[in-house]
Amino acid sequence: MKLALHGGTPVRTKPFPAYVTVGKEEKEAACRVIDSGILSRYLGACHEQFMGGTEVQALEREWAEHYGTKHAIAVNSATSGLICALGAAGIGPGDEVIVGPWSMSISATAPLFYGAIPVFADVEPDCFCLDADDVERKITPRTKAIIVVDLFGQPHDATRIGELAKKHGILVIEDAAQAPGATLHGKPAGALGDIGIFSLNYHKHIHCGEGGVIVTNDDALAQRLCLIRNHAEAVVEGLGVTNLTNMLGYNFRMTELDAAVARCQLPKLAALNKKRLLNVAYLEKGLHHLPGLTMPKVRHGAKHVYYVHACLFNEQQAGMQASKVLAAIKAELPHFALREKEGTKLGVGYARPLYLLPIFQNKQAIGHNGWPFSLAPQHSYTQGLCPNCETLHHGDILTHEFMLPSMEKEDLDDVVNAFEKVWGLRNEL
Ligand SMILES: *Cc1c(COP(=O)(O)O)cnc(C)c1O
Repeated sequence: MKLALHGGTPVRTKPFPAYVTVGKEEKEAACRVIDSGILSRYLGACHEQFMGGTEVQALEREWAEHYGTKHAIAVNSATSGLICALGAAGIGPGDEVIVGPWSMSISATAPLFYGAIPVFADVEPDCFCLDADDVERKITPRTKAIIVVDLFGQPHDATRIGELAKKHGILVIEDAAQAPGATLHGKPAGALGDIGIFSLNYHKHIHCGEGGVIVTNDDALAQRLCLIRNHAEAVVEGLGVTNLTNMLGYNFRMTELDAAVARCQLPKLAALNKKRLLNVAYLEKGLHHLPGLTMPKVRHGAKHVYYVHACLFNEQQAGMQASKVLAAIKAELPHFALREKEGTKLGVGYARPLYLLPIFQNKQAIGHNGWPFSLAPQHSYTQGLCPNCETLHHGDILTHEFMLPSMEKEDLDDVVNAFEKVWGLRNEL
């Protein structure tokens, strides 16, 4: 037997089955909206439809019921949702917001839209979410909010971070884009903080093209979130709103088309997650014995929903470099159908630690004079700021998406065979 990397026959070349969650129901829903003649029904006036059209409002009711929250507010992306959340929270210039280094960039850059300063805390070495001890060290009298991320589908340490937030009067904004359906001690991810944000973009568990939903139990925050998403200034007076902080409105509206599709997706989430978890269990049974590969840890009391399956990788124990394993397995396995441009869904590390992005390195977010970083020159974004994240990113973690619900046993067997083949022939790497 020879590695495909060295000219041998690959374990598999036929693409893995496409992960498609849309079908007949979504088609009918989209047609229903098209037949109505109006694809978005917001009004920029003090009117009931300032809060969205029929499908948007129905989605919000259904989402709130599903998650057991008082309010759900539909927006056009999770990115918009995070910006809305910081606005609603009244975050302003010079305020500090604790963020994590490992996520989509917006989870750390959202404070900058309001002139606030992102302060990075490190991630946990085993569960990869914000480390509560480091969060505690980073709290100052200027800390106004914490943005926590339920990274890779695992709920963050809401118990300890919630306690810290309460003690210091800090708001918790939970980015649950990667964890719809995850729970901690039975409580849904997204509803673990003060404001939670979900994404409905194509790469997430369920999607409607582009979209996001914000949840909260706080009436005042909910009203501000609704206003900010739809040109707040147009109607604040008509609604008797007196707190005008950050009431610069955007257009973050979800269309009726997206909402109608999202309404079909939500009821599918539980079954999709169930399949995802079955696939993870099957893969872990096949992979756990490989030296140097550690299956993801699940936090005590948590249900993980595996946006990605992130395994710790130890080069010494495995007897191979991470980059070599990556190249070798990629040569053995195909891409997912419909996603050929993305290649084999396997990677080493995850996003580069966000403070190493040019926006933080150059300390330049808005304008040309270092705003808003100039307000807080004591904060630096140097290499080494979050050592756990840096070590993990540089080779200590192997992430893949082979657990997608479209995968059946024979597909998963090919994955296990590829890993075993590479481990078996590791002396040749
Ligand atoms: C995908 C993602 C986002 C952004 O979602 P959009 O809907 O594309 O704006 C934000 N945070 C995390 C953690 C994500 O994975």
